[in-house]
Amino acid sequence: MQRSNVNLKHLVKRQLQATGRNVSTLTLEGAEGQTLTTSQVKIDQVKQAIQSNPVVIALGSGCITDITKHACFETGQIQDEVIPLIAIQTANSVCAYTSRMTVLTINGVKRTVPSRMANVLIMDTQILQDAPPIYRTGGLGDVAVAAVTFADLHLAAALDMGKWNQLAYETSSDIRNILLGQHASIADGGITGQEVAGKLMALAGLALTLCGDSAPLSGYEHMTSHMLDMAAKSNGRAVGNHGHQCALAAVLSLLLYRHIIEKLDAGAIDINTCYPDEKTMRRRIDTVFSQIDASGAAAAECASDYMQKLGKWRLARPRFETFLSHWEQEKTRLQKHLMSPEQFIDLLYKIGHPLRFEELEVPLDRDEVRWAFYNAHLMRKRFAIGDLAFLGGFFDESLCDQIFEEFDHLTNARIKQGG
Ligand SMILES: [Zn+2]
Repeated sequence: MQRSNVNLKHLVKRQLQATGRNVSTLTLEGAEGQTLTTSQVKIDQVKQAIQSNPVVIALGSGCITDITKHACFETGQIQDEVIPLIAIQTANSVCAYTSRMTVLTINGVKRTVPSRMANVLIMDTQILQDAPPIYRTGGLGDVAVAAVTFADLHLAAALDMGKWNQLAYETSSDIRNILLGQHASIADGGITGQEVAGKLMALAGLALTLCGDSAPLSGYEHMTSHMLDMAAKSNGRAVGNHGHQCALAAVLSLLLYRHIIEKLDAGAIDINTCYPDEKTMRRRIDTVFSQIDASGAAAAECASDYMQKLGKWRLARPRFETFLSHWEQEKTRLQKHLMSPEQFIDLLYKIGHPLRFEELEVPLDRDEVRWAFYNAHLMRKRFAIGDLAFLGGFFDESLCDQIFEEFDHLTNARIKQGG
């Protein structure tokens, strides 16, 4: 990490020492050959280190911030006090800096748990500009998922499988106007562009904090990205850039929405077939997750969350019946929260975001992405478009293939167009 060619860690340490403070440092690193993840082991390591420190500074991007703030949160709960925490944002990579939650890996599965925010957030545009460019494109990708996530939020609320949050929606209005509206500044990797991106990411984090969970900016595309992260180890690769994975998966979600909106024949659905039993789903979950974790821990973690969703789905059957009988109005409401896949791909292109999974910094092959997208509804209790598609009986292998073909066609066309 650099600031104007000066090592940032050394710079911060020197400046603190110059004020006469005692400074001790802890460097967090992933296990040998692996990327750092937000695990309880790392959180405990920080908890140990902050016992005797009156003020904690998190200097880093998403994982470092999440680990540190959660360590301060847990320590503060035990000691019944607020541990002073300053976050120095080193990249516009995620919205973790202003969200009161932490994405924690439990049994190899990513889960969002309640946490805290920093008391002070330092955003220095020079530091942000000096970060590798993929942080900015990844961060903007992570926030651009608003092009589809509010449809997932609306869908879940309409089916009594979640709650709409107006406050989060309104807090995100600049994300829609500036980022999705393609303001010129979003293509700028310089100081102005970093400032705009940083503010959008801060707003995104605040929207989640106001909602109390990550639902407003974490729908089916995030579930797909979490699946890819879960599969990384068994596929012998590093964990990829979160925002890049989410934004490309958002294209797949938008295409899935388009299919459902254009083709769903509400009158033709046999509603009795939309409620699979627990045993059938448990078998499916075991089959899917045994491919990446033979121990069964990931399958058990996902099944425990999924069964809650299935139980709720059964109870909400009257709402699904009403939803189908008002399908014409419902699809108009959903469309209001959806950007067209073409426009969204154009937006990604303009911010310099990669458009092919195979060309990400950690390349992802088609079979792996397909596995993640097709099965992501099995990984957590949140209801999203993949759930409606699966439970409604139209998310089959051939639809999945068609979506990937369309993805290739549209992204290739945009790349060819250039500009
Ligand atoms: Zn995210």
